Amino acid sequence: MAIRTVGIVGAGTMGQGIAISCAGAGLDVLLREKSSELAQAALVDVGEALDRDIAKWRRTESEKRAILARIKAVETIAELKPTDIIVEAVSEDLALKGAIFQELDRVVSPEDLLATNTSALSITEIAARTAHPGRVIGLHFLNPVPKVPLVEVVRGLKTTDETYKRALDFVRVLGKTGIEVFEYPGYVTTRVILPFLNEAMYVVMEGVASAEAVDTSMRLGYGLPIGPLQLADRMGLDEVMRWMKYLFDELGDIKYRPCPLLRKMIRAGHLGVKAGRGFFEYDDAGNPK
Ligand code: NAD
Repeated sequence: MAIRTVGIVGAGTMGQGIAISCAGAGLDVLLREKSSELAQAALVDVGEALDRDIAKWRRTESEKRAILARIKAVETIAELKPTDIIVEAVSEDLALKGAIFQELDRVVSPEDLLATNTSALSITEIAARTAHPGRVIGLHFLNPVPKVPLVEVVRGLKTTDETYKRALDFVRVLGKTGIEVFEYPGYVTTRVILPFLNEAMYVVMEGVASAEAVDTSMRLGYGLPIGPLQLADRMGLDEVMRWMKYLFDELGDIKYRPCPLLRKMIRAGHLGVKAGRGFFEYDDAGNPK
């Protein structure tokens, strides 16, 4: 069963990126936000993101028009019925995601796939909220979705082989590489990157080097395209904190203890690119000032 229509629940940073990738691959997208105002605002953001691509010669005006024509905002979960797969990308909150999956499970046909973009939470636990846990899977897209060619395809304890195969096919249709991952807190990418980001924050907190010096060292020293602190800013420092806390609670391992500087910055509202300020300052297009 080929996937033609994709439902997306949550149109923040990730939901918008997933929508662009799906529509760019020729799939129809139905987008559901908390309110129709937020959904319309998300569509405006998507248009602006495409304009930035056009300005950098990455896309054409006609590609933009085709992408926007394929994305439609809907007001209720029930309107997501005609989709073949639903990708949930709401905030990293187990109770919220669980409630959404419970509702989705009641509304959409049992053959449709239900995927979550969670970065760290248990797929098995989210699936347990549904009557059909075999069709629930993790699709861990990374930010910025249209540019990152990787998706972790995360199998919960009850995810069926059929669900896994169809999810992998979907990832391929998007032109991305899917990696099979068996559920474990943080999967591969989140688990490996978090201690790196956290350590970079400790270096700044201990006064060893400035944020700029840390990022420049890691970029030039190891040939990375972006430094750890700018990467954390891009992910959202509040999201980074949630993932760290989750891994710390799940595994009890001190290497996941969030750096006190991270807590302090979140309390000050310095959440990274989305707030215009984190370890660095950003303009409205998200470029460092
Ligand atoms: P975000 O805060 O930018 O977006 C979340 C969106 O969900 C918001 O627009 C919010 O209004 C919406 N939402 C909340 N409740 C809703 C509901 N009941 N119905 C519909 N929409 C609702 O967060 P994000 O960075 O896009 O992250 C979303 C998910 O993706 C999280 O699970 C996160 O862990 C995961 N993720 C994030 C990144 C990253 O780098 N930011 C990377 C990979 C995965």
